[in-house]
Amino acid sequence: MIDLIIRPQASQRIRQGQRLLQEDDIDNLTAYPQIPDGSVATLISPDQTFQGYALVARQHKGFAWVFSRDPEDTWGPGLVKDRLEAAKVLREDLLASSETTAFRLFNGEGDGIGGWTADNYADYVQINWYSYGIYRFKDWIIQALRELYPHIQGIYSTRRFGDWDQASEAVTLDWGQPAPSPYFILENGIRYEISLGQDWMTGLFLDQREVRRFIRDQAQGQTLLNLFSYTGAFSLAAAVGGAQATTSVDIAKRSLPKSQANFQANALDLAGHDFKVMDVFSYLDYAQGKQLDFDWVVCDPPSFSRSGKGYFQAEKDYGFLASQVFALTRPGGMAVFSTNHSAYSRDAFREDLLAATKTSPGTYHLIQSFGQPQDFPASADPSSQYLKVFVFYREK
Ligand code: SAH
Repeated sequence: MIDLIIRPQASQRIRQGQRLLQEDDIDNLTAYPQIPDGSVATLISPDQTFQGYALVARQHKGFAWVFSRDPEDTWGPGLVKDRLEAAKVLREDLLASSETTAFRLFNGEGDGIGGWTADNYADYVQINWYSYGIYRFKDWIIQALRELYPHIQGIYSTRRFGDWDQASEAVTLDWGQPAPSPYFILENGIRYEISLGQDWMTGLFLDQREVRRFIRDQAQGQTLLNLFSYTGAFSLAAAVGGAQATTSVDIAKRSLPKSQANFQANALDLAGHDFKVMDVFSYLDYAQGKQLDFDWVVCDPPSFSRSGKGYFQAEKDYGFLASQVFALTRPGGMAVFSTNHSAYSRDAFREDLLAATKTSPGTYHLIQSFGQPQDFPASADPSSQYLKVFVFYREK
């Protein structure tokens, strides 16, 4: 057994519910050179008091994940199944829903074991592996998923660690049947096309479910601009809610056929729904020049983006982007800002948006915010609470 001596601050963080350990948190790592990923370690304080158990699972975020603070626990298929069972209880509403068939089954450290996530897409599951340390236990996890969820027809894996990250073989069918192509799921009664077995990005970011519903519920007769639209999910939610017109802007060519397929899957007429394959930063200049405005502007950029106009970094550049978004928001309209960048804190993001309201024409009120939905529980680790969404109303 490996005994890792952890520093007092790390013990305190673990007691507060954090689960991620860094190499720096450990005092005696030199005693275990080349400790392999997937090793189980007992965590003790310098005075030898038991603090917990952790799985060594190196990834860009850290070194090891705490999976228990109970000395009676042992790492094994039983513990893995227990954690999956607890995760299932948390998702009872979603599992019982006939309106929503896509949601997260297991959210890594938020459900007690870090380094991986599992998403349900109707009859199929995609597991994302972020570390070899947990991937080594793939068979236990697949077995537990099959036992707990007998509806599953097939399980895909995407490996997002080490050399696998960019490789096409990074996605494999690890159990069962391949999913039909195209494959559709339901979210609050809306059909979305999903691609499984090709890429870790399946076509739908499941964590934005509540935001899509919020937009749909208020979209009747409205116009909406969707910046960084990907497969057009926010536009589709608005269109189903009766939006009069939507404009979706994304630089990726593949976003266009995918967005149109989503609209067609819901028997929507494409008239009034415009999809632009272009750089958002160029579009913003164009729209400001033409003095366009919209009842809704949704802005969901990646954390980093290279564009014709330079380099966008959420923590540095979101404030300026927000002021451009406000300029396109009609009086009486709404601006929705999202970021999933874990290094950009909720407070800093909110402050940057509030500062942008001050330098923009019009008066704005922060009226709503969203974090992660029930199926994306977070641990106390700051990086676990990554999703931040703020909605501003512009006074008439
Ligand atoms: N809002 C989407 C998810 C956005 S993912 C949803 O809810 O589904 C980020 C998207 O930004 C990607 O589709 C990527 O192609 C696009 N993107 C990145 N940089 C861009 C840029 N400079 N201009 C336009 N789109 C960009």
